[in-house]
Amino acid sequence: MPITPVIFPELIRALIAAIDANADAVTELDQAIGDGDHVFNLQRGLQALQQHADDIATLDWPAAWQKIGMTVMSAVGGASGSLYATLFIGLAKSSQGKSLDLRGFSEALLLAVEAVKQRGKADVGEKTMLDVLVPAAQALQAEAAANSALPTILARLRQVAAEGAEATRNMVATKGRASFLGERSKGHVDAGAKTAQLMISAIADVLDFVVA
Ligand code: ADP
Ligand code: MG
Repeated sequence: MPITPVIFPELIRALIAAIDANADAVTELDQAIGDGDHVFNLQRGLQALQQHADDIATLDWPAAWQKIGMTVMSAVGGASGSLYATLFIGLAKSSQGKSLDLRGFSEALLLAVEAVKQRGKADVGEKTMLDVLVPAAQALQAEAAANSALPTILARLRQVAAEGAEATRNMVATKGRASFLGERSKGHVDAGAKTAQLMISAIADVLDFVVA
């Protein structure tokens, strides 16, 4: 059974729950090396998406991703808003005309993550959400290419995302506000990497349940 945007309202509820449950811990991270607004920015974006969730559920994936990207773009200020908007608008573009089985999706996702790198002029190792998004997209593609079973893929995604977030702890930030701190940014996990991990895990939990 293919996964369609019908699942979107449920995914949004899970993302909101995951961010709400970890809001204080992430805000503490963000106050240590950022300006403390990251959770608020994400919650604004997720609330806006929840308002449009029933409409988005009626679309096909490329149209859904376009609408998700535009909604995030207009609802969220801050670096993370424009970067997530770029991710989803990138997905809308890169998935056009592709068959969206797991392999096709993983290829589209890698291209969308490339667009995020270009938008933020950043790459892996700079203590950002990319330290989670890039390895997660690469792992998804590798598992899809190997025809792994979905529960295996989801377990791998959770693991790679957790490792990616944790790896930011000892990085020096060279992009975003945390870069103003230079060496002093070391010792704290990046808030945007942490929320990317939380959201990937929440999506994996929903999908685990759907295919069980
Ligand atoms: P702002 O930095 O504008 O206050 P947020 O607080 O919402 O926006 O988001 C901060 C997060 O965005 C950081 O923790 C980091 O993960 C991510 N980030 C910042 N700059 C970049 C960039 N150039 N490329 C990728 N991610 C970035
Ligand atoms: Mg901020």
